[in-house]
Order: sequence, then C-alpha cells, then structure tokens
Amino acid sequence: MADSHPAFEEYCEAIFELEEDDLDVIQARIADRLHVSRPAVSEMVRRMAGEGLVTLDGGIHLTAAGARLAERVVRRHRLAERFLTDILGLSWAEAHTEAGRWEHVLSDPVEAAMNRLLGDPTTCPHGNPIPGSAYTTPDTVVLSCVAVGTSFVVTRIPEELEFTPGLLEFLEEAALLPGTRGEVTATSPEGVVTVCIDDRHIGIGSFASDRILVLAEADAEAVAV
Ligand SMILES: [Zn+2]
Repeated sequence: MADSHPAFEEYCEAIFELEEDDLDVIQARIADRLHVSRPAVSEMVRRMAGEGLVTLDGGIHLTAAGARLAERVVRRHRLAERFLTDILGLSWAEAHTEAGRWEHVLSDPVEAAMNRLLGDPTTCPHGNPIPGSAYTTPDTVVLSCVAVGTSFVVTRIPEELEFTPGLLEFLEEAALLPGTRGEVTATSPEGVVTVCIDDRHIGIGSFASDRILVLAEADAEAVAV
C-alpha cells in the first residue's frame, strides 16, 4: 500500500534529501520543501508513522522501510534527470522539475532499461549520488573554503540548491556544472566568492558557495582553466 502512494513517496524523498544535506528533519523544513502547510505535514508524518515509514521520537527519521521507499524514488528521480538532460537535451532546471513527476511513474523494467542506456551512471546531472549505483564519495570541500588563487573542479550541487528558485538556471548559465574547472579569484566579507570559469568572472553568493561541493586543486598550475 505505502509503496504506491505518491504523497508518501514525496515525503520519504524529502526527508531522505534533507538528511543527505545534513539538515535536521523538522516539520517546517518539510513544509518548505514540499510547499505544503505545517498542519498538513504534521498530519502526514503521523500517518507515515502509522504505516511504519518514519519514527517520530527526537525528530523525524525514516525507518528501514521508509529509507527503502525513499531510495527507490530518489534513484528514479536522479536517473530520470540524467535521461532528460543527456538523452533528451533538456536544461538542468527543466529536468529537475520534470523528474519530480517521472519518479512516481517509472516501472522496474523502464528504470532498468534507462539505467542500461545511460551506462550505469553514479550521479544525477547535478552530481548527487544515485542510490544503488557504484558511487564513491570524493574528497570534497565547499566552494567558500577554497582559498583565493586555488583551482577547483565542481563535483556536486546539493539537492537543497536544486530546490532554490532560479539557482539551477543561474549555475547552468554560469557553467558551474559538475566537471567544470575554475579558479577562485576573490572573496568578499559578505561571503561572495568570485570564480573565473572560461575567462568569465562570476560572483557566487554565500548561500550557494557554502553548499556547492568542489575538489580543490593543491597546485593551481596543474590545472588548465
Ligand atoms: Zn539532480
């Protein structure tokens, strides 16, 4: 029953992704993420606890069953994003929104076929790990920790940023995509990090620069920007 309930899937996914981004899972955050009222969240998490998907002692936590459901939905979301960008050529932002629908309707055979076609990808186009793939966590730091004059390679735009209105469009326009090389050229006291990518200088506000994960290059000279 719980397996085929889109609302349960949405909630399990949201809780999984908040935990993934190291955010405390509280009702207000779920309400923000899903654009629903706090009373609605309170009612739904109570129902989910009844279904054995979450526990509510000392915060909201997925049970093993809740985590399984979340991983299935997150896996389909991230595979669908890959398919929508790599095969169909949609923009990042379009893919994120569209995948929010596909994640609930993909069947096991379609998911498996998509995975085969894409060659067992380990991340979504934004660099977030696909559950059940061979992903290994790289040794990353947040962009705001990279010293001026240091080169970096973007590895991951956390899910929290995917949900920030307009941000994916901005990052895509700025070419701040996983795999992109750049260099930090300045930082401001307000936390704005200026990066140079392909001879363009782009200011990244603190909300994003405190969250975007990069591999910093020890030797800036070694990287051809
Ligand atoms: Zn993504």
